[in-house]
Amino acid sequence: MSTTFDASYDVVVIGGGGSGLSCAVQAAKDGLTCAVLEKEAQTGGSSSFAEGHAAFESDEQIKRGIDVTKTQAFDTYLDYSHWRADPALVSRFVENAATTIVKLRDEEGVVYEDVTVTALDQPGELTTWHLPEGEVARVIELLEADARRRGVDVFLSTAATKILQDADGKVTGVVATDADGQEVRLGAKAVVVGTGGYAGNPEMLDHYTRYGIGSRLINVGGPGNTGDGVRMMLDAGAVEHRSIGTLLLFPLMRDKTITSHTNCTGMQPYFWVDATGRRFVDEVVGLNFGHAGDVVAGLPGSMYWCLIDQAQIRHLVEDGNEIGLGIYVRNNEKMVNLPTEIEADAADEARTNVVKGATVEELAAKMGVPPAVLRAEVDAYNALCHAGVDSRFHKPAKFLFPVEEGPFFAIKMETGIMITMGAIKIDEHLRCLDKAGAPVPGLYSVGCDAGGMFGESYTLPVPGSANGFALTSGWLAADEIAAAIGAGAL
Ligand SMILES: Cc1cc2nc3c(=O)[nH]c(=O)nc-3n(C[C@H](O)[C@H](O)[C@H](O)COP(=O)(O)OP(=O)(O)OC[C@H]3O[C@@H](n4cnc5c(N)ncnc54)[C@H](O)[C@@H]3O)c2cc1C
Repeated sequence: MSTTFDASYDVVVIGGGGSGLSCAVQAAKDGLTCAVLEKEAQTGGSSSFAEGHAAFESDEQIKRGIDVTKTQAFDTYLDYSHWRADPALVSRFVENAATTIVKLRDEEGVVYEDVTVTALDQPGELTTWHLPEGEVARVIELLEADARRRGVDVFLSTAATKILQDADGKVTGVVATDADGQEVRLGAKAVVVGTGGYAGNPEMLDHYTRYGIGSRLINVGGPGNTGDGVRMMLDAGAVEHRSIGTLLLFPLMRDKTITSHTNCTGMQPYFWVDATGRRFVDEVVGLNFGHAGDVVAGLPGSMYWCLIDQAQIRHLVEDGNEIGLGIYVRNNEKMVNLPTEIEADAADEARTNVVKGATVEELAAKMGVPPAVLRAEVDAYNALCHAGVDSRFHKPAKFLFPVEEGPFFAIKMETGIMITMGAIKIDEHLRCLDKAGAPVPGLYSVGCDAGGMFGESYTLPVPGSANGFALTSGWLAADEIAAAIGAGAL
């Protein structure tokens, strides 16, 4: 049965985030006609929140004297994933990520202000986080402008709903709902799916994970990332990667922004108790926000309380924090907003996630935990702090601050989600694979929709991996498609 298309392109890209726009620009450079379908009224998705991206042996690293090698990066990805990541895909990314930096800088006008780590005290973290001026939001602006300049049709408020195939399973195009609510059919020799995963879809989160807290996760990423692409690719015969269900979680206050100083205080490696009022972890896990997210998601109520006293508040204001939150609160930043912000939070009757008490017992009552339990936990923790040795959870002595000087505050940290990873099985050519392991002809996946880069958790010791992979997989997919079309294979 022949299909009539409203327009036809060499490539239709579903999703106008980092991976999709990178793909579109490269497709145009390769001489292909291209359309980008973006469901939201603007491009960017989760990529517009990212601060930086990973690369290895880039000239931006070399000129700063940073000697992270490709081999170190490759080994870290594979070791960290317990070899559940796909070596060929990891290698493709590691080998090409430095080229992404050159392309963005020399061809798009991106300026790199730094290459750094996310947490100064995180052991083994590689210096791979390339920070562009204006963050990745600026990269998105530049890529979108370049795509349009090169003739790419970028359709906003246009959601793809179905991937079309012929009788042999070869991709022929996409069905979408346009900004006027009309169905449109676009023909394509290849379709690239980069819809950014399903962090905004509680049902899919529950389906693919065992946490059962999908509706409680606080999504700070793109509102459009609801798993549409994953569903469409599965419908088209692609299969799930075994790492589907990998999430990048982190501790976060409900109804706060990620720039808040109260929120950042809740991540400090000080004194944390769970919903029962008991200490449960070496709080130094807070230096790796992804690990801390995995911890908090598994706790009763998927939350913990961080307790601080006046000495800690003074320390945070005068000396700075132990850990920031990306570039939203800088590492070692003096938390000057904290005293005013936390007092206002505690005084706000509509807010239940910051409480203040003149005594530990009063604090416990407001937290809803048994005062005697919290008193005993605080006393035990203070004794460890004074001894200088955490014989319970082995926290380094430099983070052992006693909780003694009232009034005290407790900050309730819940579970935030940035992204999902590892959805659809692809090969190193970014082609979606079917259940027999063969490519679905003409179907490609990039960025967070694609599986194979990670194991059970995000490789935060290689900071910038998600956005780095999104940007790199995008242009690699375009080159693959251009080569396949050139060879008459599509
Ligand atoms: C707060 C925050 C900070 C982060 N910081 C970093 C960082 O510093 N470094 C790093 O590496 N990673 C970071 N990340 C993660 C990173 O942003 C993403 O992993 C990556 O950039 C995702 O790119 P993507 O192209 O796969 O998806 P996205 O950029 O999310 O793009 C997907 C796009 O697809 C669109 N879409 C969805 N469904 C449809 C449909 N049916 N039709 C059409 N369009 C559709 C969405 O609206 C969205 O615009 C951060 C994430 C967050 C939330």
